Amino acid sequence: MYDFVIIGGGIIGMSTAMQLIKAYPESKILLLEKESGPAKHQTGHNSGVIHAGVYYTPGSLKAKFCLEGNRATKSFCDEQGIAYDECGKLLVATNEVEMQRMRALWERTAANGLEREWLSAEQLREREPNITGIGGIFVPSSGIVNYAEVTAAMAREFQKHGGEIRYDSEVIGLQETATEMRVKTEQGDYSARFMVTCSGLMADRMVRLLGLDPGFSICPFRGEYYLLPEQHNRIVNHLIYPIPDPSMPFLGVHLTRMIDGSVTVGPNAVLALKREGYRKRDISLADTFEMLTTPGILKVLKDNLRPGLIEMKNSLYKRGYLQLVRKYCPSLQVQDLKPYPAGVRAQAVSKEGKLIEDFLFRNTRRSVNVCNAPSPAATSAIPIGAYVIEQIDAQLQGLPGFAQSKQPA
Ligand SMILES: Cc1cc2nc3c(=O)[nH]c(=O)nc-3n(C[C@H](O)[C@H](O)[C@H](O)COP(=O)(O)OP(=O)(O)OC[C@H]3O[C@@H](n4cnc5c(N)ncnc54)[C@H](O)[C@@H]3O)c2cc1C
Repeated sequence: MYDFVIIGGGIIGMSTAMQLIKAYPESKILLLEKESGPAKHQTGHNSGVIHAGVYYTPGSLKAKFCLEGNRATKSFCDEQGIAYDECGKLLVATNEVEMQRMRALWERTAANGLEREWLSAEQLREREPNITGIGGIFVPSSGIVNYAEVTAAMAREFQKHGGEIRYDSEVIGLQETATEMRVKTEQGDYSARFMVTCSGLMADRMVRLLGLDPGFSICPFRGEYYLLPEQHNRIVNHLIYPIPDPSMPFLGVHLTRMIDGSVTVGPNAVLALKREGYRKRDISLADTFEMLTTPGILKVLKDNLRPGLIEMKNSLYKRGYLQLVRKYCPSLQVQDLKPYPAGVRAQAVSKEGKLIEDFLFRNTRRSVNVCNAPSPAATSAIPIGAYVIEQIDAQLQGLPGFAQSKQPA
């Protein structure tokens, strides 16, 4: 019998595991991951940005955890000798509508406690000669890192403190009883006194395995990127972001310096017809059927029909995609867009058909389930893990038979 079982070896599962074993050093903890190693899904297919916390509603978990996570990620990287670059980010307005939206973002960055600088068109040109805009906001604390490397380091820390990881172990059944959690995999069954699930694109299915109605569904959105040729590796000095349309949940196609020195363009946001489908041609009939019979998802698709179709068109038509980035980086040509692997975002949608903005958790007597952890959850992984442990501490109060061996913080 384990004390804790954690399901999911992405950055949220590993961050939780690493912190849990330090908080409960006497406990036996098992992490189960269906793939052959850590970070094979969202955590290993993202932009690698250590976000500063520009966009999030003041007071939300996203705003709080992103700010804390920005610092915590950098100090974890310092401790572990992981390369990161605090290259800063520029938000660029290219017309009057965007300028208005940028003013609102300026207020929001103040409310979120961020250091930032307002740039005129000329100051923008000085910082970024290849970028065109009528103004910008510079946020110095944004950075870049390889989150797969961060996750692998978390896994090593967890194992160093006595944690056990089993890869190639897909959880196919869950049962919560009065005394334990029973976890079923093809490789064997496990029992634990308490469970945490951090299963990303499968979050709703995990809650359903518990026999509960999750109250939300995961809608997968593929984020497609292009890579710029090596001669453009110095085309920008910072991360360059457009001003997002506040009615849209994603940030818009940006120019991202990667930690390996390359520069990517992207991601867009296209409805994915397979939850873990990374290529355009990946289709799962079961996943598609599930989406098309989920009223909340259908409502989101209906409400966003026009932008959704435009995203689809630009996904198939490279020149359309190019226009999105040429708005602020006019020198780029269609031949500059080289293939690059896509990622798939897990976005929770409510029954009422709303995209759930904030991080979302659902607890049972013996489990904490991370239900919605989209961007900036990689940045926020350390505070999210700490929050999960706070939830566990509260849940364990009064659970009979549990070894209360928490290490004082
Ligand atoms: C295109 C894109 C760009 C992004 N850019 C950024 C960014 O720049 N900065 C940022 O902070 N965030 C970014 N994000 C968001 C970030 O990557 C995610 O929020 C974060 O990685 C979520 O981590 P996770 O551990 O919850 O999920 P995942 O990394 O998806 O991990 C979940 C794990 O659970 C496992 N699992 C699922 N079901 C089972 C089962 N039944 N049994 C066993 N294991 C199971 C999966 O195999 C997987 O390994 C981006 C995301 C995408 C897709």
